[in-house]
Formats: sequence, C-alpha cells, structure tokens
Amino acid sequence: MQVTRRQFFKYCAAGLGTSSVAALGFSPVDALAEVRAFKLIGSSEARNTCPYCSVSCGLIMHSMGDKAKNAELSIFHIEGDPDHPVNRGTLCPKGAALVDFIHSPNRLKYPEYRAPGSSEWKRITWDEAFAKVARLVKDDRDKNFIAKNAAGATVNRWLTTGFLAASASSNETGWITHKVVRSTGILAFDNQARV
Ligand code: SF4
Repeated sequence: MQVTRRQFFKYCAAGLGTSSVAALGFSPVDALAEVRAFKLIGSSEARNTCPYCSVSCGLIMHSMGDKAKNAELSIFHIEGDPDHPVNRGTLCPKGAALVDFIHSPNRLKYPEYRAPGSSEWKRITWDEAFAKVARLVKDDRDKNFIAKNAAGATVNRWLTTGFLAASASSNETGWITHKVVRSTGILAFDNQARV
C-alpha cells in the first residue's frame, strides 16, 4: 500500500502516534505496512484450575514450544476458560497474574528438608519426602492418639497434627481427602484458601 505524506499525517490524526513513529525514523510506508501478529498464533493450549482460592476458576494456559522430545514448553499467557461453569472466562486480579507466579524465581518446585538445628534447606526426592512425612505422622499418632476421654467415652481424636489440603481439588479428591484425614482422628483440618 503506497501512502502519500499528506495521507500519512491524516491517518496519524486518526489515532497513530505521529511524533513517536517519526522520531523512531520509520518512513510512512514502512509504518503502515507493519502488521502485529496475534500473539497466541502457534501456541499450545492446556486447561487447568487456578490454585489460589476455593472458587477454583478454570484456566487456559498458552505455551510456546514445538513439542519435540527435548523441547520444553514455556507458558507465556493465561486466561479464563470461557467454557468453565465456575468462571465463564473471567479471572480476578490474582488469577490474571498467574503467569508471574509460574515463572517466579521463588516458586517451590520440589521437596526440601531443613534438618533440626540447621539453617540450610536441602533438596530431597519425592520418595524421601513421602517416607519422611509418613514416618513422622505415624510416630506422632502412635504417641498422641486419644481413644477415650477422662469419662471413658470414645472420642478417637488426634490433636497434635493438622492437615492442610489444596483448595483447587475436584469434589472427588476433596471427598477422599476428607475421609482419609478424619479417619485418622485429626480435627485441625483446613484448606489453603483460608490461609
Ligand atoms: S481467579 Fe481469583 S477467584 Fe478465581 S480461583 Fe483464582 S484467585 Fe480465586
């Protein structure tokens, strides 16, 4: 598209930033020929659930990467899922900023352990973490479980350990988590949405 200098400035008056474009040294023809590509072209989509609160809004996460065996997909855009019955495509400011949470250098991605008296956190495997948690939980329950109160009534309670569940779980996961935790006698049971 060829544009005369007069036409170019007329277009600028309708919305283009004349001074900044000219200051950058673009000619009128070059400036109008540039078309900005839609940023989601070529991205991969995956559905997920916002992890922040118990509303559990549905998300669509867009990643770049060609899915080759050793290529790592990198999420660069997140938006509300318009087909999700909870949020119908909307997100609150926390959910809309999730991409920064994903790429935060402070995000915890694997289990770490700090030994008693140590100031250092050490990375451990998931198997080591599960084994350690299971051992501590079992030992504490064996030591502190209360089957009957002072009056002899059955109470089956365990007050020295609490459980914090995820708020973004499905109904089924929540039901199973509730059954397992309550069956141990734990009373201090909540989810991370209220923390
Ligand atoms: S987007 Fe906002 S309202 Fe929805 S689950 Fe996340 S934090 Fe909660």
